[in-house]
This record gives sequence, structure tokens and C-alpha cells, in this order.
Amino acid sequence: MREYRGYIFDMDGVLYRGDTLIPGAVETLERLRRRGRRLVFVSNNSTRARDDYAERISELGLPIAEEEIIPATYATARYLAERHAQERIFVVGALGLVKELLRAGLRLVAEPERAEVLVTGSDPAINYQKLSQATSVLLAGKPWVTTNLDRLHPTEDRVIPGTGAVVGALQYITGRQPDVVVGKPSRLIMEQALEALGVPREECLMVGDIIESDVLAGKNAGIDTALVLTGVAKPEDVERSEVKPDYVLKSIADLEG
Ligand SMILES: [Mg+2]
Repeated sequence: MREYRGYIFDMDGVLYRGDTLIPGAVETLERLRRRGRRLVFVSNNSTRARDDYAERISELGLPIAEEEIIPATYATARYLAERHAQERIFVVGALGLVKELLRAGLRLVAEPERAEVLVTGSDPAINYQKLSQATSVLLAGKPWVTTNLDRLHPTEDRVIPGTGAVVGALQYITGRQPDVVVGKPSRLIMEQALEALGVPREECLMVGDIIESDVLAGKNAGIDTALVLTGVAKPEDVERSEVKPDYVLKSIADLEG
């Protein structure tokens, strides 16, 4: 394995699964830090604000600061603040997403007819009314920004629908596709991670457990990638996939450097 100065870690399936830490995760992070490596952590989570997410991570016992975490909620708020700062935004998403958008100073509206942008995330309270409202924003031709396109989230004992439950419904209803995806595999969240690292991309490694999300995100951003087998991807997935990681590791504990 080459030497890297910066590391971008996916979290779920790499550092922990559900409430259980992956053996060696804490030690690996501590070792990389001792060697002066820069670390940042990205997640497609679209339901928790950054501080709430950081709290959960520290409860798990991981030595990670809030400023090092970039969840899709936070990344989407930053993207919108750069590109749609003055526009009225209609959100279909969880409270954690709303919290980040408000924190970024964005203008949220409850009336779809006043909306200039639609933002979507995973929404545990999705219902027919919200879909109708989002549909009217899209049929009025307004831009559509989504936190991610994830269909599923594996949890410890079951699989739950992701943002795809909202995005898929709206795509089918309106025939439109999201104009902008912020989360992995988009390079937008990766560019934010690179900026936080302050290390040139050639000297960074992306570590994740899903080929179509983490490894592809690394490739899209021109960053080397390591796939760990402690989460979603199985060895046979690597053989089948056209997208090949630079390294395949049994777990984060096997990370050198
Ligand atoms: Mg993961």
C-alpha cells in the first residue's frame, strides 16, 4: 500500500455496524493521527445534523471531533448556501436536515407555490401530502437538489428505505431526475472533504464499504480507494463490479500507513 497523508473515511460499515465498533477501528484512527495523517469522515446520512451525528459517534467511543464529520445534511446545507443562498427552499426531509439548512441561514418555505428550489432527504414522516407538494415544485420546473440517492440502509437487524423512498417516488411521478446529488458517489461531498483535509487529492485515500457509493465517489473525485469487507460489499461483489478499488482490505484494522 502506498503512503497517504490524508484519509477520507465512510463511517457505517467501516468504523462500526449499528452500535458495535469494528475491532481495531479506534486503534487505527489513533495510529494514523500519531503519524500526523489528516482524517475526515463522510456519511450519506440525511436525517441527522452534524452535531447530533457527532454526539452519536462519541457515544460509540470513537475519537472523532465534530469538525471532522461531514454528513450529507451538512454538505447539502453548504452546497445550497453557496449556490442558492437567496432562494426560497421547500424541503422534504427529516428534522436534522431542516436544522442544518436553517443553521446555514437558508430560507425555508412551507408553501410549495413560493418555492424556488426543492431539497430532498430521507423522511421518516413522508406522506401523500408532502409528495403532492414536492410534485408541484418539480412540475413548476424548479431545480431539485437531493442529499443522496441511496435506496436502502442496512441496520443491525434489518434493511430500511433510504432517501430513495422519496426520490424514487418523485422520479416516477414527475419523470424528472434530481439536478444535483450532494452525497456519495457525487464529487460534491468529496470536494468538501478534500477542502477540510487540506491535502492534495493525489495524497489522499478514500476508505469505504460500498463499491457503488464509496469507491465510485473516490474515483469521481480522482482519489485512490480502499474497500473494506466489514460492511455491505462482499468479495464476490468486487469481482463482479466494473468499478475496482485500488485496495481490498478485510477491515480497517488492515489499513497501513
Ligand atoms: Mg458505509
